[in-house]
Amino acid sequence: KGRILSGVQPTGNLHLGNYLGAIRNFARLQNDYECLYCVVDMHAITVWQDPKALAAQTREIAAAFLAAGVDGDKHAVFNQSMVPEHAQLAWIFNCVARLGWMNRMTQFKEKAGKDRENVSLGLYAYPALMAADILIYKATHVPVGEDQKQHLELTRDIAIKFNNDFGVPDFFPITEPLIFGAATRVMSLRDGTKKMSKSDPSDYSRINLTDDADAIAQKIRRAKTDPHPMPETASDAEKRPDADNLLGIYAALADMEKDAVIFEFAGKQFSEFKSALTDLAVTKLGPVGAEMQRLMKDPGHVDRVLHAGAEKARAIAAPILADVYRTVGFLNP
Ligand code: ATP
Ligand code: MG
Repeated sequence: KGRILSGVQPTGNLHLGNYLGAIRNFARLQNDYECLYCVVDMHAITVWQDPKALAAQTREIAAAFLAAGVDGDKHAVFNQSMVPEHAQLAWIFNCVARLGWMNRMTQFKEKAGKDRENVSLGLYAYPALMAADILIYKATHVPVGEDQKQHLELTRDIAIKFNNDFGVPDFFPITEPLIFGAATRVMSLRDGTKKMSKSDPSDYSRINLTDDADAIAQKIRRAKTDPHPMPETASDAEKRPDADNLLGIYAALADMEKDAVIFEFAGKQFSEFKSALTDLAVTKLGPVGAEMQRLMKDPGHVDRVLHAGAEKARAIAAPILADVYRTVGFLNP
């Protein structure tokens, strides 16, 4: 059986992209893998987070994992900062990763924007911490959205360089990303060329997991489209990013192939498609949002799950870190 690690940052409103690209898959993989799912609070503070909001958001993400069907008894659900081995291995990886590799990371370029001088050192080092999150468990597979593919490649490069530098072939596994489903990169509802994101200032750009039926309906009604009828073919859809995005969302929520959705709505008006999409989104997301709200009213329960999860995680991480320390030559007299 392979081992899975994946994480979500407590940086704000969980949205449809997080759900379809990652969290829904977490639950779908849990019968075939040993799973570790963490709320990556240490990644979150690479950009400023209000401390009170951070703690509440950490519980909220954990509640979302459970609401999406992750079994917190069978698998480890925890927050990253509770397992210090992540940070300890990250330092070693800071010394393995090359500046040239980090300089190619597109997420850093996007998040840093023009004001490079003024972003945190942590934002730059983020992918090395992510590699540590994964390799501290020697995880073999990582379910993520398409946007994290480049960071997974960096993780593999770090594993290969560590194994070579220290002459320990096969010490770290060459981890595989698991990017699957019809919506591996959900785009903003306001701009079909931009990723749907927690940190987008416009709430109309995303559907949040906690949105009620009215909010979902309003956001889909306002979602950007073009003046033409629905695309007739896949190649037509590809040229129209806003339409293509909505079709992908429909396909993912309905568990259909995108081609079948295109066929079903070919040549119809967007208004008709949008009302079908609204019904589908409300049906599929409503129960998840409701379960999240219920869990958030019981923070004691969520905290117990996180605590037990961290213990399970540390039991795996501690011996691997000890091996790494020995390999690197850290003295432990
Ligand atoms: P932030 O804007 O703070 O980076 P985010 O929305 O990108 O937030 P993350 O916590 O960085 O969320 O990512 C959590 C998981 O959700 C990752 O696996 C990521 O690949 C996935 N994900 C994020 N955005 C999307 C999206 N638009 N479509 C599909 N998957 C996504
Ligand atoms: Mg992100």
